[in-house]
Amino acid sequence: MNSIRENIEHVRHTLLEGVTLIAVSKTKSPEEIMEAYEMGIRDFGENKVQEIEAKYDVLPKDIRWHLIGHLQTNKVRKVLGKTHLIQSLDRSSLAAEIHKRAEKMNLTVDTLIEINIGEEPQKAGILLKDLPGFLDELKNLNRIHVKGLMAIIPQGTPEENRQYFRKMKEVFMELKQHEKEHFRMEILSMGMSSDYETAMQEGSTMIRVGTGIFGSRNY
Ligand SMILES: *Cc1c(COP(=O)(O)O)cnc(C)c1O
Repeated sequence: MNSIRENIEHVRHTLLEGVTLIAVSKTKSPEEIMEAYEMGIRDFGENKVQEIEAKYDVLPKDIRWHLIGHLQTNKVRKVLGKTHLIQSLDRSSLAAEIHKRAEKMNLTVDTLIEINIGEEPQKAGILLKDLPGFLDELKNLNRIHVKGLMAIIPQGTPEENRQYFRKMKEVFMELKQHEKEHFRMEILSMGMSSDYETAMQEGSTMIRVGTGIFGSRNY
């Protein structure tokens, strides 16, 4: 197995210009995260609030934590102020809670809207047909700043994956026509260890690589 250092060098070598690499460090120890940190990585992705809280306390404060997993409304207040970007804004009740808490804490919160591009019932994310209504609801929630879109695409062949990445890019470009204050399409977060090269070819600006950097997860 390659070292974390070698893996990062490999991914960096393939990184296209303008693409941000997120090292997905879920289940990984602070020591392992520090290995990536020493290589200059500052963006880390986690899918559990408890893990962000624990790691935030013991790791350098210039790390930008990205929440990439399901966020329960009762845990929102725990991550505000600690997360750089909530990538999993996936429903109205969550948006309302983020806005409410952010107002109390006098913060603004950067988010990506998670899209369920494969229309998979077991997956989180807004369906395209529900997107206009969701955007309408966000209009009144001025503490939430939308920076772009995130998607976890269905498992499939490289060609199937490419179709989903293309579709995401289309939605992204369409929404870009409607940019305004607090609603920007700057980040298109898509692509994981197995398909980030295809994702970048199709316009991803942010890839989320876990096993491809840290090896298999310690569950
Ligand atoms: C775990 C996870 C990743 C990283 O997956 P790998 O296949 O290990 O690269 C990316 N995005 C999300 C949302 C994840 O939960």
